[in-house]
Amino acid sequence: MPVLVFDLDDTLYPELSYVHSGFRAVAVFLSPLLSVPAETLAAGMIAEEAAQGRGQVFDNVLRRYGRWSKTLVAACLRAYRQHKPELSLYPDAERCLTRFVAWPLYIVTDGHKEVQARKVAALNLGGRVRHAYLTNRYGRHRAKPDPHVFELICRRERVAPGQVIYVGDNVRKDFVGIKPLGFKTVRILRGNYAHLEADAAHAADRSIHSLDELTAEFIADLAS
Ligand SMILES: [Mg+2]
Repeated sequence: MPVLVFDLDDTLYPELSYVHSGFRAVAVFLSPLLSVPAETLAAGMIAEEAAQGRGQVFDNVLRRYGRWSKTLVAACLRAYRQHKPELSLYPDAERCLTRFVAWPLYIVTDGHKEVQARKVAALNLGGRVRHAYLTNRYGRHRAKPDPHVFELICRRERVAPGQVIYVGDNVRKDFVGIKPLGFKTVRILRGNYAHLEADAAHAADRSIHSLDELTAEFIADLAS
């Protein structure tokens, strides 16, 4: 039986919902310090992210109220990373995990290991996959495109790479490292990378718009 491996952020749930959830936690932390309602602070951070990205959001909210300091920026980052997020799977991801409940399922995700672990817990994925591989646990050099944890999955399942299908959204790193080893790859066209063009080395074997397109037939065709 083929092995199905999923990326996490923007493949199984919208990553922006994590960002917003984190901003709300930071707003609750800052509210008494700035004497501003948490809802006002959260709305400001969410609007700024939409307009300019997330890079300076904590700096700017503190500046706006005349309270910028390195220490407070670091405290905001801590509140963000340590918060317990409230997240939901994309509806098609929910259906997909249910459809393949009898198959060997895995997650492979990069990023801060404790943050990623909290996302897995918030989405209740622990009981729905055989293991969520947080590449960060194996060292930063094991982040995608490094194939290390994919090789661990092959060993654990006693299958060849051709029997392992990876579904991800980030065409910059999700497929380029594992394709040469024979892993099968599926790109889901959503999130920040949906419109990026990929050269032959980075492109996935197939592209889909929804995980509903992932059927047993689709996989049999791909893994044959
Ligand atoms: Mg992703």
